[in-house]
Amino acid sequence: MVRYNKVMAIDPQSPLIDSFGRVHTSLRISVTDRCNIRCFYCMPLENVRFKPREELLTFEEMTKVVSVAARHGIRKLRLTGGEPLVRANLAQLIRLLKEVPGIDEIALTTNGILLPETAVDLKQAGLDRLNVSLDALDEALFEKITRRQGVQKVLAGIAAAQAAGFEQIRLNAVAIRNLTEGEIVPLANFARENDLHLRFIEFMPLDADRAWKSDQVLSGEAIREIIASQVAPLAEANRADKSQPAVDFAYADGRQRIGFINSVTQPFCQACNRLRITAEGQLRNCLFGTTEWDARRILRSGGSDADLSQLLHDCVAAKKASHGMDSPEFMPPERAMYQIGG
Ligand code: SAM
Ligand code: SF4
Repeated sequence: MVRYNKVMAIDPQSPLIDSFGRVHTSLRISVTDRCNIRCFYCMPLENVRFKPREELLTFEEMTKVVSVAARHGIRKLRLTGGEPLVRANLAQLIRLLKEVPGIDEIALTTNGILLPETAVDLKQAGLDRLNVSLDALDEALFEKITRRQGVQKVLAGIAAAQAAGFEQIRLNAVAIRNLTEGEIVPLANFARENDLHLRFIEFMPLDADRAWKSDQVLSGEAIREIIASQVAPLAEANRADKSQPAVDFAYADGRQRIGFINSVTQPFCQACNRLRITAEGQLRNCLFGTTEWDARRILRSGGSDADLSQLLHDCVAAKKASHGMDSPEFMPPERAMYQIGG
């Protein structure tokens, strides 16, 4: 196994392997910390302090980081935020990233609100996959969660994406105890009727308000039992990609699959192959990490590709075995989900 050794110069092609042998092939790129809604589990309601625009990486800077990362084995990209579709001209970034040798897949996670006007452009630019986040079909509950109205826009966004040719769209729903139980069956039925791959995500302590409580976590296991008894029987499905965070189940009637991202109750850190870069160019090796590696400083101070290679390897070498949420010493990161990039 090739291991990174700090005293040696970095091989410009060396894979990003951490000290636990995890090979990193996936990079999540936050393109903005701004958003057009205000989900309580992510952003504050008021007085959000967004980064000044000049602090955000330009598309060219993002592409530079990706081209170096791809030489070290990064193959999949996911654009996220904040809400990635509020970043102007995002299709242009996708076109640039599509040109980077080694990149096999570009995906996007969005709240879907701006998809009606962007889906065709995104498809034409070469976007491969789409995840749309929707926690509630009920407008009043959607508004309670997001502090904005928008269910109809999200539904129109999903329809627009399907009409633009996106297939196998994933629908991500954060589940919250004593709040979203009534949405489980309607969301499952909606996903099955509309050929969407629904995944429930456990609520993680990444809210800006720092109000997360463990008893708000509605476990994937509890949801699975509800679906199996009220929608259709389920059988665990084979996982082609072991690094996927979701445990997938197939409905016994063969109509769609459903996944559970049990980040809190069943952490999947041992298979993690992901790195992240924030909108202002800070590399991170974990959602819950407390250290960042400053790629923007290298990009804006005339640093070389070798400097970026070194930074990527430093970031990977420092990765911990797990997020440590189950430890009594666990502290949530200072930055909330919208500032890191989910
Ligand atoms: N704005 C886009 C969206 O909502 O899809 C992309 C960014 S968002 C931060 C990415 C994903 O993280 C969404 O599916 C969102 O529901 C999820 N998320 C945000 N805060 C979370 C939290 N505290 N726990 C679990 N999932 C969270
Ligand atoms: Fe915006 Fe996504 Fe955060 Fe909701 S989860 S506030 S849509 S960035």
